[in-house]
Amino acid sequence: MREYNFSAGPAMIPTPVLEQAQSELLEWNKSGMSIMEHSHRARHFMEMAHNAEACLRRLMGIDNNYAVLFLQGGARLQFASVPMNLTAQSKVANYVDTGYWSHKAINEAKRFAQVVQVAPTNEDVLHPERWQWSDGAAYFHYTPNETIDGWAYPFIPTPPDDIPVVADMSSCILSRTFDVNSFGVIYASAQKNIGPAGLTIVIVRRSLLQYAVEGIPRGMHYQSYAQNQSLFNTPPTFAWYLSGLVFQWLEEQGGVESIEKINYHKSQKLYDFIDRSDMYVNTVPVSCRSIVNVVFSLADETLNEKFLQQAKENGLHYLRGHRDLGGMRASIYNAMPEEGVDALISFMIEFSRLA
Ligand SMILES: *Cc1c(COP(=O)(O)O)cnc(C)c1O
Repeated sequence: MREYNFSAGPAMIPTPVLEQAQSELLEWNKSGMSIMEHSHRARHFMEMAHNAEACLRRLMGIDNNYAVLFLQGGARLQFASVPMNLTAQSKVANYVDTGYWSHKAINEAKRFAQVVQVAPTNEDVLHPERWQWSDGAAYFHYTPNETIDGWAYPFIPTPPDDIPVVADMSSCILSRTFDVNSFGVIYASAQKNIGPAGLTIVIVRRSLLQYAVEGIPRGMHYQSYAQNQSLFNTPPTFAWYLSGLVFQWLEEQGGVESIEKINYHKSQKLYDFIDRSDMYVNTVPVSCRSIVNVVFSLADETLNEKFLQQAKENGLHYLRGHRDLGGMRASIYNAMPEEGVDALISFMIEFSRLA
């Protein structure tokens, strides 16, 4: 029986998608074999790959000024790929530090670029009018949704002088609408809203493809992938296929605008419950609360292990917060049905009654 998975990633995949994959596992589209066994240069695979990209473009409104790349290596490799692909002319890159992942991105970028943080103090991250921009910065990097902290930017920062905006959307891509044209580069690893781990999507404005540093490894070079429809080397074929099915599923749900409303509603229900209870606490300012990663702690932290154990017995998995932060976290991405959130709230009520 399929139970509810609240993990930040790998996360739930819609059941109809898994069922379709199951039915096509031995033979895909009357082609005599599974999609995993086809050459990635053969018509069958290319057709599937093209359709997946086209569907993602429709979902996000990505026009032809942008290349959509299907890569590997996760968001963690992008922390290095971004500076290596964008700093041929200017070595200076602006960053804003809002939590766990943007911090990691900054530390990796420091190995390849001259990182300058725009917000002088933590209080300034929500006050872009106080930010200190670098003249001629190659790009500005931020993390719209901090997966671990349950914190999301309530706006898209807009740097001066057309400094391209780079966003790590690993946990928020396809969960809410973004105007792609506001960005120079969007990257996201797959295991949250896109599909299974192994695939990393990069959406890059084509005019930025000329700024890769000399000596960049070909396997990290956006341009090499853009020129080869992401078939520079063997791509993660099954992850690509399954992600294509997720895109189709999302389109059938009414697309990103519809799912955003549902995600907002699901998270609001959970936050409302937490705010009303004496037993559970969320300290993120209301305007910065993530609609996909809801962190909370128990007022009495000695009950943590008991809470997690009983949750699991009730079919509610992976609620433990990140090891660096402690507490609890309910990740409720697109594939988490509202019933999953209802089940969690019912359990939390029951637990507080008995505790
Ligand atoms: C999950 C996540 C990452 C790490 O992704 P990997 O695929 O493990 O490299 C980075 N940034 C954000 C915002 C994430 O949510």
